[in-house]
Amino acid sequence: MKAAIVGGGWAGIAAAVALADAGHDITVFEMAPQLGGRARSVAGQDATRPYDNGQHILIGAYRDSLALMRRLGVDPDAALMRLPLALPYPGEPGLRLPPGAPLASFTRGVLAQRGWPLGARLGLLAAAAGWLARGFRCDAAHSVAALCAGLPPAVRRDLVEPLCVAALNTPARDASAQVFLRVLRDALFSGAGSADLLLPRRPLSELLATPAAAWLGGRLRLGARVQRLEPGWRVDGEAFDAVVLACTSVEAARLTAGIAPGWSATAAALRFEPIVTVYLHSPGSTLPAPMLALRDGPDAPAQFVFDHGQLGGTPGRFAFVVSGAAPWVARGGCAEAVRAQALRELRWATPPVVARMLTEKRATFACTPGLARPPACIAPGLWAAGDYVAGPYPATLEGAVRAGLAAAQGVGTAAKGAASGSPTNTP
Ligand SMILES: Cc1cc2nc3c(=O)[nH]c(=O)nc-3n(C[C@H](O)[C@H](O)[C@H](O)COP(=O)(O)OP(=O)(O)OC[C@H]3O[C@@H](n4cnc5c(N)ncnc54)[C@H](O)[C@@H]3O)c2cc1C
Repeated sequence: MKAAIVGGGWAGIAAAVALADAGHDITVFEMAPQLGGRARSVAGQDATRPYDNGQHILIGAYRDSLALMRRLGVDPDAALMRLPLALPYPGEPGLRLPPGAPLASFTRGVLAQRGWPLGARLGLLAAAAGWLARGFRCDAAHSVAALCAGLPPAVRRDLVEPLCVAALNTPARDASAQVFLRVLRDALFSGAGSADLLLPRRPLSELLATPAAAWLGGRLRLGARVQRLEPGWRVDGEAFDAVVLACTSVEAARLTAGIAPGWSATAAALRFEPIVTVYLHSPGSTLPAPMLALRDGPDAPAQFVFDHGQLGGTPGRFAFVVSGAAPWVARGGCAEAVRAQALRELRWATPPVVARMLTEKRATFACTPGLARPPACIAPGLWAAGDYVAGPYPATLEGAVRAGLAAAQGVGTAAKGAASGSPTNTP
């Protein structure tokens, strides 16, 4: 088959590699001058020290993303720092899961979290046992805040809220409890090491985008924004047997408006949450850990800070992450507020200065209860891949990669069906 992949983020790369490995003739159209989409590096003043377009965290449960990195010659053990899940706050050790079998590790970690009263620790374990007994499923209309309303306040403040905003990029009161439970299940209860944090040791583009560009070679067209898609399939007039739309939901909705109006309307209805990343520079400073959780509030935008010096990156560079950042985007002054928060909450060898602020207004779709997400199959021979496509995950790298693999499998199944004379175009 001759297949076009429109968009070269992690979903498009996953689809392209899977289709090429299955023997198809592929072309990747990417409108930007580089691959990677939202998970890419951004040039700084010093070309050898780019910024990440937002600090990214992977976890051990991201099996397909890690396999894709390996497929492209990247060793995840070298490219990522693996740490047991820990949420230390400045001056507080916080929750820390010891290595071991998931259930035992979670129980031991919670019981050892002496920052919480014993009743709070037992309350969390009882709630987790209830979630486990119900197969980590709940009413699709529930929010994370409703799901966790019975938990002790310290657990909600120190665990539920930071995990929810980190994984779903949506505040607990607006976030889907069902998706949150699925993330918890896969992270905490799906095999040893699944909850481990994997922190990039290299610039973000080196994890996938740069090796993918080398691997694709002449099959990649950069700076090529697809303007028109016609049934048959024609991509800007060029004929293909199948097309994977791995562009953003907004672009996919535009390209399909006249072809699949129902699908296009569902994609166009998605709403977004911004993420702001503020990079501070403070020569000679280090944090007590490569990653610290922070308590956000009316004058404290950031929920996490990462010490790039400890991650094999630029010493003295600190990435502050402001997830669910809509109020700060509307209000302005985020960078200065982060700097003030940093001065209040952390110790510095030299006064930190704002080096860079990156705002992604459409960082992820707002992962709200009962959200209708468009399905992967748009029409026979036309598939969607992207973190927003219907699935159990929030907008994550792993969700994007799995969507890319699913679209490639859909195209491949249809190709086999056509070869055997029995059309099998739907999932
Ligand atoms: C600041 C920030 C922090 C994040 N942190 C994390 C994290 O810690 N962990 C995690 O798992 N996830 C995180 N995410 C989410 C993660 O980056 C995304 O889920 C993932 O990158 C989405 O990949 P994608 O391929 O679906 O979409 P995209 O990366 O958006 O790729 C779409 C591609 O299509 C291209 N395109 C669009 N229109 C066209 C067209 N018409 N023709 C050709 N090309 C087109 C775009 O240029 C883009 O390259 C974060 C995101 C942001 C923004």
